[in-house]
Amino acid sequence: MAFFQCPKCKNTWQYNISKCPDCFLDLERIKSTKIKVIGISKVKISSVFHPKTPYYILVLENEKGNRWVQKSIREHKIGDEFRPKPSKNKQTVSIWKTKYDILETIEKTIELIGGIKINEESKILILPTLISAKHPYLADNTSPEFLDSVIKFLTQSGANLKNIKIAFQSFDNVPIEASAQKSQLLNVCLKHKIAVLDLAKTSFLKKEVAGLNIQISEQAFKNDLIINLPILKLDQKKKIKGATNNILTLLSKKDYLSFEENNKILKVINKVLPEYLNIAEGIYIQKADKVVTYLGLIFASFNSLNLDKVFTEVGMIKNLPEYLKDIKIEHIQITGRHPGELQYNIEKIY
Ligand SMILES: [Zn+2]
Repeated sequence: MAFFQCPKCKNTWQYNISKCPDCFLDLERIKSTKIKVIGISKVKISSVFHPKTPYYILVLENEKGNRWVQKSIREHKIGDEFRPKPSKNKQTVSIWKTKYDILETIEKTIELIGGIKINEESKILILPTLISAKHPYLADNTSPEFLDSVIKFLTQSGANLKNIKIAFQSFDNVPIEASAQKSQLLNVCLKHKIAVLDLAKTSFLKKEVAGLNIQISEQAFKNDLIINLPILKLDQKKKIKGATNNILTLLSKKDYLSFEENNKILKVINKVLPEYLNIAEGIYIQKADKVVTYLGLIFASFNSLNLDKVFTEVGMIKNLPEYLKDIKIEHIQITGRHPGELQYNIEKIY
């Protein structure tokens, strides 16, 4: 975990209070490089947020002597180095908990799935969730903080803002500009001076997959990296709305609406698309009754189906959408946090 330190008096905080209250200087973000387990408590009594027992609460310490606690279902020994292993398998799903710093959690989830290689020349297309003209607190659209953190992550990884595009498409009668404004996502694009792209105005290419004829925006094939940025949700009709639902934003409006009722497209869409990165916002989750609950997680994977499946596992969602029923959780490599230590029934929590 990262800490925030005053460059002058060296006071340190676990969260970014932006300026030191004594010196009025901007705090520096300092990443932990070496983490050790220095304390362990075993918990045997379950609670609403921690239904699975026993679990362990670890006291962790970094090389600078800063300490914090973390839950784990794996047993550790005092003195163990604490270091989740990155995976090189592109099908892996990484999970990390976000406390105060979304950017740090994004860095961690991407590092855990092997990282991304980008440079100044890389053309990047970001696909946030933008489906309604609603305020961020309703968790209907990607939150402005999340999009902002993804952009910061890309620039610090070497991307040039001029080569990043953020794409939206309206599938109802609400103009996409109105949704972009009310969701505050437009502000984020303007702040970073990033080009906004209305996919409806792009050209569409005809593709055929598993007997379905579909039209996909040519933008899907014109960039070096596509980042799918779903906000995870529960849904009355679809059960969940995950990463695979969000990538359908690349379809033509006609196809999107005709396939909306059809689960088959979700199973096969990835076969006609180039490989893309999914970074899923699972911090505040909108439930089927539209009430918003807290989960505090970010998931990343190059496989949207695996990511959606892992989300249902963490959220203990029993009523699975058709497209996820054949995927076995045991076959998915999961890194970062173990679902067993994060699980609770999101449907039942208010
Ligand atoms: Zn200071």
